[in-house]
Amino acid sequence: MSSKTLRIAALAGDGIGPEVMREALKVLAAVGRKFNLSFDVTEAPVGWAGIDAAGKALPDATLELCRRSDAILFGSVGLPDRDPTIPKEERPERAALLRIRKEFGLFANLRPVKLPKALSHSCPLKPERQGDGIDLLVVRELTGGLYFGQPKKTEEITLPDGTRTQRAIDTMVYTTPEIERIAHVAFRAARLRRKKVTSIDKANVLENGILWRETVTRIAKEYPDVTLDHQFVDNAAMQFLLRPTQFDVVLCENLFGDILSDEAAALAGSLGMLPSASLGITAAERTFGFYEPAGGTAPDIAGKNLANPIAQILSSALMLRYSFGLTEAAAAIESAVATVIDQGLRTGDIFNPADPNARRVGTREMGEAIVAAI
Ligand code: NAD
Repeated sequence: MSSKTLRIAALAGDGIGPEVMREALKVLAAVGRKFNLSFDVTEAPVGWAGIDAAGKALPDATLELCRRSDAILFGSVGLPDRDPTIPKEERPERAALLRIRKEFGLFANLRPVKLPKALSHSCPLKPERQGDGIDLLVVRELTGGLYFGQPKKTEEITLPDGTRTQRAIDTMVYTTPEIERIAHVAFRAARLRRKKVTSIDKANVLENGILWRETVTRIAKEYPDVTLDHQFVDNAAMQFLLRPTQFDVVLCENLFGDILSDEAAALAGSLGMLPSASLGITAAERTFGFYEPAGGTAPDIAGKNLANPIAQILSSALMLRYSFGLTEAAAAIESAVATVIDQGLRTGDIFNPADPNARRVGTREMGEAIVAAI
């Protein structure tokens, strides 16, 4: 794939988006030169930047660009203080993000959480629980389960004693093919890592959990080189705090993944370090990837050269790995990030004044150091 031109839609969005995207694009260009890759990067507005430029959070031209591209590198969207009169469905979080998720059938969310030893201080766990550093990947199903199952409603009912009350209903639904496809994503991802999948369910209580466990166990037979174990979600929530180093790939349905991926993120200390990937299949049966930092637009530090660009830079590494199969180029970015962390470079969010090796830098300096390390 490396000989062909790889078309990337770069949508920086709002807040810190443009600042961190600028650094990620510099890093991509550097890795492109090193590995002789041909990237065709086109930038386009999204979020409030889209509303300002073309009256819509996801302008038609931006969506068209995404359709023509091989992958989307996304910043983040949303500014809580901007025009409260705009209806919810036209605001960036819905009109841009949910629309893109739907358009590209993004059903798998991958959130790697890596805590380098040198950033041990930003982890809320005691050092002895961090082992040689935490390094896990949460694979979350994104389009099924309790969030989307029908019926989903709030209704008026009469209780047996005659009193009227309200009843809210959400329905947890998964079909076998939905579980199979997310399980394949997890096993394939494990093959690129330490070859272990921990599947999370509540098979002791939920019908969904039983089908989930049976299906994942069956799919595992296609990946004899990957070890599979199962944990109930309540135990997993505890194990993340007690012994997070036991995990490699953690496979979850939508609700459990939503909760556990945030719990795992807290282990890394700062949102500024955490990339994510969402993978899908388009209507034209094309595998597609959307890559963004785990955090938001950070309006409190936007425009001040304070944001940590590493989450955005690592998102571009995930794009190289999962959309383009460029494992070496992805690893080169990740190892350049590890190098600058070892050198002591820190943006404010990961700075520890008690660390004599730490040097506080801005967004730009961090990006440039990573380029130099490549
Ligand atoms: P946030 O993630 O933007 O910020 C939370 C805290 O983390 C802030 O203190 C912020 O400064 C810090 N932070 C986040 N990224 C950082 C980085 N790269 N470097 C250093 N510090 C960083 O969450 P929020 O304040 O709840 O939301 C702000 C806006 O972002 C809202 O409009 C929200 O809807 C939006 N948002 C968008 C996305 C997305 O586009 N996918 C995701 C989350 C939130």
